[in-house]
Amino acid sequence: MKTARLVDGELLIQDLPVPEPGAEEARIRITASGVCHSDLHIVRGDWLGVPRSGAIGHEAIGIVEALGAGAERFVAVGDRVILGLGGAGGGYWCGACEYCLKGQTRHCPQTKALMGTFAEQFCVWAPALVQIPDHIGDHEAPLACGGLTAYGAVKKLLKHQVPPGRPIAVIGAAGGLGHYAVQIATAFGYRVVGVDIGEDRLEFVRSLGAERAVGPDEAAKVAMDDFGGCDAALVFSAKLAGFSLGLQMLRRGGLFVAVGLPASSEGNLSINPFEFFFKDPTLIYSAVGTVQDMRELVALVAAGRVKSHVSRTGALSELPAIFDELEAGKYLGRAVVTDMGH
Ligand SMILES: [Zn+2]
Ligand SMILES: [Zn+2]
Repeated sequence: MKTARLVDGELLIQDLPVPEPGAEEARIRITASGVCHSDLHIVRGDWLGVPRSGAIGHEAIGIVEALGAGAERFVAVGDRVILGLGGAGGGYWCGACEYCLKGQTRHCPQTKALMGTFAEQFCVWAPALVQIPDHIGDHEAPLACGGLTAYGAVKKLLKHQVPPGRPIAVIGAAGGLGHYAVQIATAFGYRVVGVDIGEDRLEFVRSLGAERAVGPDEAAKVAMDDFGGCDAALVFSAKLAGFSLGLQMLRRGGLFVAVGLPASSEGNLSINPFEFFFKDPTLIYSAVGTVQDMRELVALVAAGRVKSHVSRTGALSELPAIFDELEAGKYLGRAVVTDMGH
């Protein structure tokens, strides 16, 4: 089978034997795999401590074609599924530790990342799979990480007592994750102030349901003057400047939800202690989501409330070019590899 792998920092398309599913694993014939910004960061070596070797790709749709022992309790051959959770998690979690019982499976000491969907076939732990109806197309593969991560972040608003109807900021609103967050938050009933760069991207953000779409230079003033400050800021930006802007847009006692992961070379998020005292924000990080979140998100997509905006599709052999284009910011929304065999 064809598969994309990082070998000592170099991205190669290789021919490898078709993998056999282990206990409780299903082998999936991948029909589409989304290109996540995390894949780009790994390929470029942006994150200290994350190795530039091995399989990549962690958001996909496919068909179950073989089952390991015990996997039949979760899925059947022929099921069309989405491979969820991406990032850390999704490969395995124990289901019984304090983190798993609280729904924070990515902190489980036994958690395994799901990596390797840029391949014709991929074996995955069957309980991590979520079935999807046929009318949800293959181009929705980025829901598996991008969509789920946005969904998990918006759900944190409810958990932290930010009720629907309140104004929230989405920073990086036209991006691969942000464009989902605008749709999901709007579906939940929040008033979205979307922040991005360039009039075409802002027009896109408005089309997704945002009440306001503004550039970073005017965002803090609009948040304060027109909304009295936002109750929450969801920061999807991969630039540290987006994090600082999120803090500026908050009202006193607001909720700051970090989701983006800037390159380590960008340095640290800083906050002046007096500003911290004055504004008293709650600071949290949100990454991926749970299998239950994935089921809820699939239901929202099936109902037509959320969709992936895909502006680039291509074959596996085009992956290096797709990464270059992603790095240059050429996409609105997402890119998806839709032909694994070429
Ligand atoms: Zn656990
Ligand atoms: Zn991802």
